[in-house]
Amino acid sequence: MDTQKRLDYLLVRLRERGNRLTPQRVAIIRTIINNTNHPSAEQMHSEILETFPTTSLATVYKTIRLLKEIGEILELGFGDDSSRFDGRKPHPHPHMICTECGTIMDSELDGFETIIETMARQTGFSVKTHRFDIFGICSSCKK
Ligand code: ZN
Ligand code: MN
Repeated sequence: MDTQKRLDYLLVRLRERGNRLTPQRVAIIRTIINNTNHPSAEQMHSEILETFPTTSLATVYKTIRLLKEIGEILELGFGDDSSRFDGRKPHPHPHMICTECGTIMDSELDGFETIIETMARQTGFSVKTHRFDIFGICSSCKK
């Protein structure tokens, strides 16, 4: 994925909505879309502190909320406060989650959408969204 292109696209969309884009907010968005590890808000916060040391966690949450409002970030909640985020691929897709180290990986899977369409057809269901998590042990934890 071209992160610069994605950043430009998001900034245009937010500007069109009249959202104020401070350098700090732009840096937070850049951090979110550069991170391939499905970071938590806390992880994004400590990353952003390296360039903007005065950033509060609340500002990070506000920026996440903004991206959620325009459907450009995927939140993976786990029934507690440990949500993780994918700002690179905002549409629902399968995830592999390591129960040892908490790593969350995307897996490129052809035909996944077809499976969902088939399930919807079989049941007469109108699909709004979906969530597919696979829990297990990642390859580095197995070593
Ligand atoms: Zn692991
Ligand atoms: Mn993902």
